[in-house]
Amino acid sequence: MAATIQALVPRMRDICGAGNVITDPLELRTYECDGLTSHRCVPALVVLPGSAAEVAAVVSACAGAGVPFVARGSGTGLSGGALPHESGVLIVMSRMRAIVEIDPVSRRAVVEPGVTNLAVSKAAAPFGLFYAPDPSSQVVCSVGGNVAENSGGAHCLKNGFTVHHVTGLEIVTPSGELTWLGDGTGICSGYDLLGAFTGSEGTLGIVTKIVVKLMPVPEVVHLLLVAYGSTAEGGRAVSDIIAAGVLPAAIEMMDALAIEAAEEAVHCNYPAGAGAVLLVELDGPAAEVEAELSTVRSLCEAAGATEIQAADDPAERAGIWAGRKSAFAAVGRISPAYIVQDGVVPRTSLGAVLARIAELSAEAGIRVANVFHAGDGNLHPLVLYDDNVPGQAEAAEKVSGAILDACLERGGSITGEHGVGVDKSRYMPRMFGADDLDTMQLVRCAFDPAGLCNPGKIFPTPRLCGEVPGRRRPPHPAVVAGQAEIFLYGHRTVVASRGPPGSCRRLPGAGRRHRRRRGGGSGPLVRRLAVVDRRGFRALAGGGRGRARGGAARRRDRARLGRPAVTLRPGRGPALDGPGSGARGRRPGGAGAGGRDDRAAGRGVRLGLRFRPAAGARRPGRGDRGRGGRYRHGRAAAVPLRCPA
Ligand SMILES: Cc1cc2nc3c(=O)[nH]c(=O)nc-3n(C[C@H](O)[C@H](O)[C@H](O)COP(=O)(O)OP(=O)(O)OC[C@H]3O[C@@H](n4cnc5c(N)ncnc54)[C@H](O)[C@@H]3O)c2cc1C
Repeated sequence: MAATIQALVPRMRDICGAGNVITDPLELRTYECDGLTSHRCVPALVVLPGSAAEVAAVVSACAGAGVPFVARGSGTGLSGGALPHESGVLIVMSRMRAIVEIDPVSRRAVVEPGVTNLAVSKAAAPFGLFYAPDPSSQVVCSVGGNVAENSGGAHCLKNGFTVHHVTGLEIVTPSGELTWLGDGTGICSGYDLLGAFTGSEGTLGIVTKIVVKLMPVPEVVHLLLVAYGSTAEGGRAVSDIIAAGVLPAAIEMMDALAIEAAEEAVHCNYPAGAGAVLLVELDGPAAEVEAELSTVRSLCEAAGATEIQAADDPAERAGIWAGRKSAFAAVGRISPAYIVQDGVVPRTSLGAVLARIAELSAEAGIRVANVFHAGDGNLHPLVLYDDNVPGQAEAAEKVSGAILDACLERGGSITGEHGVGVDKSRYMPRMFGADDLDTMQLVRCAFDPAGLCNPGKIFPTPRLCGEVPGRRRPPHPAVVAGQAEIFLYGHRTVVASRGPPGSCRRLPGAGRRHRRRRGGGSGPLVRRLAVVDRRGFRALAGGGRGRARGGAARRRDRARLGRPAVTLRPGRGPALDGPGSGARGRRPGGAGAGGRDDRAAGRGVRLGLRFRPAAGARRPGRGDRGRGGRYRHGRAAAVPLRCPA
């Protein structure tokens, strides 16, 4: 165990209790992967905090020691999002599984992140309410993991994804501050930080409490199981249903191979010999469902249905759903190994992309089973292979990548609900341009300037602020030659700071102050990591004088820099605001903006990053436990939340 981690162990034991800190190499192995078992990495240390205050203290300790940390819920993620860092701390949320409050009047629940998805609906059921997002893994996956992945499920077609049901989050920021995003009302003024956080795959902080909307259990639910000769006919029915203005709660499709697997696993009695089955669920007021049912039936028949079974009894419906919900796991019965792919296409392209998948499968001699949220165009091709046959794993990987290409060619996406994680980070440049990736990095850096929170995920390389998207590069030649340096930067932005906070040209002084205060310093820090040319940096820092300027120059700078949370400032040192420097909206590498060209010339790249914490921001202190933190972003809650004592 590395010395830094070794030094953290006693602190972690103090915070979480000795029994909740895992150092034994064998026990650490338990956490080496999530649902994506092809990526494995044993964490240096595992901790299981029992409260938000403990999470904050753990993160604070990691941040202070410069140790990376990764949150883990139930570990069912399929993109390697919870893959640990080999020199980092894995923070497992499974002890935090309290349902803090079910409020039937406001129709909302407050839960801890380790609570399983299904447990929320079970707790709400006595009040005639349920929690709508329903990933197939809902029996095990945690709500914290759902928030991080913005998870969907069969019924998200009508009800929306996790992001549409989360109205407040208590989070621990990557510097260890406990705070709230959203106020539990679902109404957001200012930047929608709640929206930005949901789906950020654990890279912007750790969720410690979640406020979710609850929905009334529908009066009537009706499920149709429709058999077709092929997925193309099923796809036509899907388009026709939506075009007719009917929005079912769910429309799911499975092809012949997926049906075969489900039959073997759960004996779901789907129509024998079907090339595809469609599950169409309608819910709502009885009269509305009745009317829609006849429309859907006739559209399904017109698309070539060979058999239609209807079920409105809950037990019957559960039996039919069992086949669909078990499909991923069931495939293990017909193949020793498989890749669960997750791509999105416009609904109208379903037929064409499924045909392309069939072609790819035939060309490579690799079987592909298709299970998908047809209503959303969210495909889950399951690419089957035998890892004992040389070359099959590689061939399967190739088919899997080609499927994503097919989705992108049709204007789709590389993920619908499983996230990017480590698995798909290499596909990000296929979907997003360098500008998009740069901008996403800036958002990430605004939350986590030190890059310690779940590093190495989402982006193509374990990149840090100031790096440019693309293939992973070796260290910059200027850094190797000692002409430039990697700069880890920090300064206080609290009221106690002298002068205007966040000004780029004050960074050198701020850096010295930060280093001096780091030992006992508390309060929000802004750090910056950039490859900077020393000469250019001094010029940037103070007109070449290496010190902060005052008076009119400072006012000019304030006017020029404005007060945005994040500013991208590509450029080459002294020419900061000169003609062609592109102080706004130009990515490094753009003409006249320095960036890649400057790197090649050994002059370096810099990113200006400014981050102002919320007014009154503070670290959690004595007494926070039991009050459950504060709402700092957004308005005060209409009904105060009750948090665990
Ligand atoms: C059989 C099966 C079926 C599935 N079906 C679906 C489906 O229908 N729809 C769907 O969307 N997904 C599905 N999934 C994927 C997976 O279940 C979801 O992504 C789920 O949300 C992950 O939750 P988890 O608790 O297991 O998170 P983990 O796998 O532990 O973590 C996932 C990510 O969340 C982060 N994270 C976890 N907890 C926190 C926290 N408290 N704060 C911040 N970040 C955190 C982790 O760092 C990681 O990046 C399925 C998976 C399996 C194995």
